[in-house]
Amino acid sequence: MTTINLTFLGTSSAQPSATRNHQCIALRLDGDIWLFDAGEASQHQLQRSQLRMGKIEKVFVTHMHGDHCFGLPPLLCTMTNSNPSASNEAPKPPIEIFGPSTLRRWLRSTLKLTRSTLGRQYTVHELLLPTDPIDSGDPTDPDNPLHHNEILGRNILIDTANNAWSVLTTDKWSVIAAPIVHSIPSLGYVLTEHPIPGKIDIVTIQPLLARNKDALLREQGVKNPMALLRTVQSGKDLHLPDGTVVLAPKPRPGRRIVILGDTSDPSLIAPHARDADLVVHEATNAKTFLDPPELTYEEAERNAISHGHSTPQMAGRWARGVNARRLVLTHFSARYKGDDGGEEGAQGEGPRVMEEIRRLAVETFGEERDGEVFCARDFWSVDVPRT
Ligand SMILES: [Zn+2]
Ligand SMILES: [Zn+2]
Repeated sequence: MTTINLTFLGTSSAQPSATRNHQCIALRLDGDIWLFDAGEASQHQLQRSQLRMGKIEKVFVTHMHGDHCFGLPPLLCTMTNSNPSASNEAPKPPIEIFGPSTLRRWLRSTLKLTRSTLGRQYTVHELLLPTDPIDSGDPTDPDNPLHHNEILGRNILIDTANNAWSVLTTDKWSVIAAPIVHSIPSLGYVLTEHPIPGKIDIVTIQPLLARNKDALLREQGVKNPMALLRTVQSGKDLHLPDGTVVLAPKPRPGRRIVILGDTSDPSLIAPHARDADLVVHEATNAKTFLDPPELTYEEAERNAISHGHSTPQMAGRWARGVNARRLVLTHFSARYKGDDGGEEGAQGEGPRVMEEIRRLAVETFGEERDGEVFCARDFWSVDVPRT
């Protein structure tokens, strides 16, 4: 079974605090790391974690606010130079970076103006709305030549029929993105694992194979009938000499992970996020015991929405609407400490306010799913098991 795991390297909103760094989520799958956002000092957080920078193959940027991308240029410099290909190895493929319009030009300018050289090539694929400018990256354009480590990426236009970008397909995963409402263009990503083979019922099949052992050898030259289990597992029905047909198990849906950028309304991505195993949703502002009693929830929500953000209740409601199994909140205001409470432990201000925020999300996500709502802290990890 493939382990999939998300590590939250930064969980603050616009301003970092002593206990929370800017946004960065590392998704570990199949030995690689895919990074979602790289706020300032993401490389420091990676160095302090158990994750190996050299394993990062792809970076997905949700939007161009600095708390989500200011850490990308220095991270690229370190992660490619700390692990250069040995001279006798084939060069590694370029680091792939996905994100909204202007990401490519911004990264190129930053790397060029700082005279930065990477130990590996990189490419930026832009997810474009019809009104976005196309960055030609024309090597002959004197105003806009590529960085010397850059390979021109794809310009991926939104499919207006379903309001989504087809970002990427690998042998095991497909990734789409869709626009979500924020103060600037912002994206959510949906990762869907390809259907996985169903489970075969060995207890039932074994006696059938044993019963046909001699005939299988005689008629089909099969010396080891148990080897036929692989045929069934691969999705092919098995026709045995005595007329029995062993049906291949139906494929099971793969896992689905939804990672949203900053948003006050992710409804456009909802049709793609149905039945997610895990939703990562921001919850920047809340009304908690830290606020004066006269502040109403409605005022707190209005305030959050006016800045393009969400409350825990909004996150819980949305996650319930897409029938998510598990909800992780992140991107917290600097007011909410992400510590363990120090000497006071669970009674400390940080744990108490985070539990209050978590409970606010449970109110709308569903009491029956109380155990499936989490508030992320820096370096906290969560697995995404198969159901
Ligand atoms: Zn942000
Ligand atoms: Zn933002």
